[in-house]
Amino acid sequence: MKQIAIYGKGGIGKSTISANIAAAFAEKGLNTWYIGCDPKADGSMTLLGGRKIGTFLERLRSSTDTTEPAYVLGFKGVKCIETGGPIAGVGCAGRGIIVAVQELYKRYFNDDIDVIIYDVPGDVVCGGFAAPLREKFANEVYIVTSGEYLSLYAANNIARGLENLKVNLGGLVCNSRDIKNEERIVDKFAEMIGSGMIGFIPRNPIVRECENRGMTVIEGFPNSTQANAYRRLAESILKNDTLVVPKPVDPEEIRVLLRENE
Ligand code: SF4
Repeated sequence: MKQIAIYGKGGIGKSTISANIAAAFAEKGLNTWYIGCDPKADGSMTLLGGRKIGTFLERLRSSTDTTEPAYVLGFKGVKCIETGGPIAGVGCAGRGIIVAVQELYKRYFNDDIDVIIYDVPGDVVCGGFAAPLREKFANEVYIVTSGEYLSLYAANNIARGLENLKVNLGGLVCNSRDIKNEERIVDKFAEMIGSGMIGFIPRNPIVRECENRGMTVIEGFPNSTQANAYRRLAESILKNDTLVVPKPVDPEEIRVLLRENE
């Protein structure tokens, strides 16, 4: 069973990538779970026809039928869960993630599962959002970034969190913003922190179009080059066995890298 966590700066496209690779795994016939860890509980919407589901704990509490599963089936049978979060200003999101996932292990997780994807927000791996890693729910991390400074800076911070937790990084995913020399920049940065770039996702307006329609690109435009880019990424993640605890760099080195590639 692959248990992966996708991290990245807010707004970088983590949920889009997580949902599209979940769709790619599922269309291959793999038993796939998508666990959204965002307090907004909206990461799974494109797997669910644009529908927003209640959080896992809310669904458990409100269900009178104990045989009814608390997950929701999405595209090609992806099992979707939203761990949700606390009311703003109260409590810690990590607590919700831990309780939800412990319950999931007790009720549903078994050897029949092929892939579990944790879609985790956070510019830095704070104690709460590091829960999937600290509790060993996920043991392989992918960081989504672009070639922009702030995105690389956030990726470097996440790498620092992983180093502290001694967790393996499987690689960086470049979600392109159409920056000059972007592929080279992200590839080089990945090398600087001791890892590699595992996938490059081009910028394409059909991504937004599909989101507006409440679907992944794999569902909306299955024959597009964009859908194939997500499929290639899913395949690379599936086969990846190059896992390293990253070594973050001094942020000044990121500026130097960007200046060299202007
Ligand atoms: S650990 Fe993270 S999620 Fe929990 S309260 Fe602190 S900042 Fe919020």
